[in-house]
Amino acid sequence: MLEDQNAEQASLGQSFRSLDKERKGRVNLREILEVLKKSGLSKKDPRLKSFYEKVGQLNGVNELTFKEFDKLIQDQSLLFDKVFQNQLIIPEFNRFSEEIKKIYNEVKKNNGGKVADYIPQLKRVAPENFGVSICTIDGQIFSTGECDQYFSIQSTSKTLNYCLALEEFGQDKVHTHVGREPSGHGFNEITLDPKKRPHNPFINAGAIMTSSMVKPTLEPAERFDYVLDMWKRAAGGSQPTFNNAVYLSERATADRNFALGYFMRENNSFPEQTKLIETLEFYFQCCSIELTAESMATVSATLANSGICPLTQDKLFTPDTVKNCLSLMSSCGMYDFSGEFAFTIGLPAKSGVGGGLLIVIPNLMGICVWSPPLDAMGNSVRGIDFCERLVENFNFHNFDSLIAGHSKKMDPRVNQNLANSDDIQSILWAASKGSLREVQAFLARGFDINQADYDGRTALHLASSEGKKEMVEYLLGHSADPTAKDRWGGTPLSDAEREGHKEVENLLKKYKGSKKPVSKR
Ligand code: GLU
Repeated sequence: MLEDQNAEQASLGQSFRSLDKERKGRVNLREILEVLKKSGLSKKDPRLKSFYEKVGQLNGVNELTFKEFDKLIQDQSLLFDKVFQNQLIIPEFNRFSEEIKKIYNEVKKNNGGKVADYIPQLKRVAPENFGVSICTIDGQIFSTGECDQYFSIQSTSKTLNYCLALEEFGQDKVHTHVGREPSGHGFNEITLDPKKRPHNPFINAGAIMTSSMVKPTLEPAERFDYVLDMWKRAAGGSQPTFNNAVYLSERATADRNFALGYFMRENNSFPEQTKLIETLEFYFQCCSIELTAESMATVSATLANSGICPLTQDKLFTPDTVKNCLSLMSSCGMYDFSGEFAFTIGLPAKSGVGGGLLIVIPNLMGICVWSPPLDAMGNSVRGIDFCERLVENFNFHNFDSLIAGHSKKMDPRVNQNLANSDDIQSILWAASKGSLREVQAFLARGFDINQADYDGRTALHLASSEGKKEMVEYLLGHSADPTAKDRWGGTPLSDAEREGHKEVENLLKKYKGSKKPVSKR
């Protein structure tokens, strides 16, 4: 326990030091807010609520001591550590957001497709609406376009209902009633597999089936409240809404869905005691829920984060449930385009006829694209266009790791600074071991020999303190700075003296007197 506290204190100290660059023992509030803004965490992030409240009470105080800083961030110290030490999953979030914005602008030019018109409420939605929102598993958010407007989630509701059925009844029971095979038929085809099950949870018959396994014993009103609340929790607390007009229209034009229901009942496909009409109505209600693209991206990020909402740490589903859901999204989530999508995009996704598209990049982020015009398969035209461009630019396809060696795709997970700090660690290590060849290789790559680690230690410090005479000579001959000071004020010379390396000492003294290397630090 004490150890944990000490470790936390130590890392808090690191955060403080990373902000207190001039070692004044104080940090600047404006700078803290600036770092936070750049990190991609939203001002509305529920985890930052108490932080912003405390900032509000500071009444213009701008310089904070360590104690004040500690008090400010203590409720979320782990999150703040990640922010200040640049360890969020996408370290350069601004840069990444700019790339996404470029893709968005390109996709916006695509005016193909037709808005769903099987019910008037969907037909009336303006085709120009276009929003893209991204939420990482650390809760970094980027939204552009119409991301605050509520839209009909339609078939994307099939994802959550499947997860809820799995949580309640377990995989074996659920899959005695619904298969996990792409159907090879249209999404509302009247067909069952040889075991008389609908083919998968993401075609209509299968979704009606999983709906029958979501709190079947509750009263209809309670059942709906339960699902709505699960959407809210998955969306980090943002309230979803219900569009009653959509629901009434859905129900009034649902001959096919009723037919599917009766067909399955005729074949004894449902669990015992299923109330068919209640189940169908519940299914229509779920399709009539509305969310914004930004909330939907958080739902998607909850799936990317193995069932834990990144904004609240609320644990909604077990990782197994999410794994099953994502597996089926990968093979069956995009209507009759699912195989093609799995091949070219290689990401689990689910679309709905309201123009929403939910995309999951496991362990990285959730994305929602909302653009109502649909292609012939029923997928959002801009949604597909966006995904194609996304995986052209970033290494997000499931199997991109296999071509990493000869691919020019970007990986926003890579922390450029960290990559650099790995290099620093490597060159320091090589210098301390006297490994000339490795140090030469670094210099050949244009590495600055005077770069220091977090404590201000340079290659020359390390080589001197280990008494590596040849290495010291080599470094000095290549512009290493003999006057460099570490954070305790130590120089390569004082290191050599302390460790009793006479020859190195002499070398450093001689060099110091004869040449003045240029420090690039
Ligand atoms: N409400 C639609 C139906 O069941 C869902 C359509 C969809 O998004 O695939 O017919």
